[in-house]
Amino acid sequence: MKYRKILHLDLDAFFCSVEEKFNPDLQGKPFATGGSPDGRGVVTSCSYAARRSGIKAAMPMRIAIRKCPKLLIVQSHYHTYLAESKKIMTILHNLSPLVEQISIDEAFLDISDLLEAALTIAHRIQSRIYKELGLPSSIGIASNKLVAKIATNIAKVKYRGENAPMAILEVLPGEEAKFLSALPVEEMWGIGLKTVPYLEKLGLITIGDIASANMDILEKHFGKFAKILHQRARGIDIRPVGEDDGIKSISNEITFSRDSNNSKELTNTIKNLSEKVGNRLRKRRLCGFTVRLKVRWPNFETHTRQLTLTQPTNQGSVIYQNALKLFHQIWKAGKPVRLIGICVVNLTPIFQQLSLWDKTYEKESRLLEAIDTLKQRFGRGVIQKGVSTFNYKNDKN
Ligand SMILES: [Mg+2]
Repeated sequence: MKYRKILHLDLDAFFCSVEEKFNPDLQGKPFATGGSPDGRGVVTSCSYAARRSGIKAAMPMRIAIRKCPKLLIVQSHYHTYLAESKKIMTILHNLSPLVEQISIDEAFLDISDLLEAALTIAHRIQSRIYKELGLPSSIGIASNKLVAKIATNIAKVKYRGENAPMAILEVLPGEEAKFLSALPVEEMWGIGLKTVPYLEKLGLITIGDIASANMDILEKHFGKFAKILHQRARGIDIRPVGEDDGIKSISNEITFSRDSNNSKELTNTIKNLSEKVGNRLRKRRLCGFTVRLKVRWPNFETHTRQLTLTQPTNQGSVIYQNALKLFHQIWKAGKPVRLIGICVVNLTPIFQQLSLWDKTYEKESRLLEAIDTLKQRFGRGVIQKGVSTFNYKNDKN
């Protein structure tokens, strides 16, 4: 049997490592990126010196300051993180035939077709990213995505040094179930924080407990998810490493069946289009920095305006607020409009750090997912109340 060779790469404290790179004064100091300690801001990334004081990503900033009064709060530079992320992905594409980026600082690589040992390739990738970009990373190696990703986490957790771990951990083919068995269930990729207490109530504390659990009991509690859960707990995962789909923008536009100069109708249309674009971004686990508005007058004259946000978004409400701002820059009351389009460009995969650990964000995302499902189930009517007389035309990408 031929085993696959899968690598999972994850940058070490990515945002903070980038900040240190451009501001070496920060090196060795306890600092964090994230929101303000006055409001409900959370830590998005923290330096290793900060971690030694017990600070973690997703911790409310005011608690972080209490734990470490000397903590420096550094403003996030998302555009710089994105630029560094692109350079990392270019290095990966140069060294591996198949790359799937899953967040701004994480990717899977399928190197099954390369003759060299996986460990050799992992060392080469890690040292090239460090030499060329000055950024530390850790790598997990296994015969599948699930185990490779968990291996990276465990390698980082086990590291006891002062600085970035720059760890590499290989789980050999055939050892997957053994590697997972003693780990607590929350280490299992795909198990949400909410599911953990539920599993514990069933006496399933370790991944090994799930692997040896009675299938009937799992089915009773997890339905059709039981089989996958059972397989994953035994280290089985056949998902392929998928290539990036190369999407550059997400847009939706509407040509009115009759030109409209009704402010409320126009505003509603912008809102609906924004929600639609947000929905499509979330479905693809993307967010974008730039909101672009297109407006066409009845004489076919077309204008576009765009603005770039400091933080990328996939939320309809944020897209809407900004698109509306742009609209009011070019529209004067009473002027008829033939077409409106909303587009989000400068796309990036969602920031894993936030979506996994920031509770508020997690809650909001889950709510949005629920709404997305509802819209799918009940069709367009639910989201497009009051604009049913328009013709819809979606851009391909
Ligand atoms: Mg990372």
